[in-house]
Amino acid sequence: MGRTKKVGIVGRFGARGGSSLRKARAKIEEEAKSIYECPQCLRRAVKKFSVGVWKCSRCGFTFAGGAYKPSTKLGETVKKERDRLLKH
Ligand SMILES: [Zn+2]
Repeated sequence: MGRTKKVGIVGRFGARGGSSLRKARAKIEEEAKSIYECPQCLRRAVKKFSVGVWKCSRCGFTFAGGAYKPSTKLGETVKKERDRLLKH
């Protein structure tokens, strides 16, 4: 069994690129792995499903978003619409 040295997500990129690039890359990776709020059920259960596709593990809502993070515009629109409906 080969030993795998545990490194952070930055480690995978080795010495390629400058440190600022590595940091930016790490941030993107971090965002891609984060859990986001679902625009439909508003629970924090949205995970990256595929590149540009995000899926909520709670309600199964699947939507297209950014490649590395879901478009928050969609969530904002839903929230605004919901607020508007609740006020009336
Ligand atoms: Zn949901």
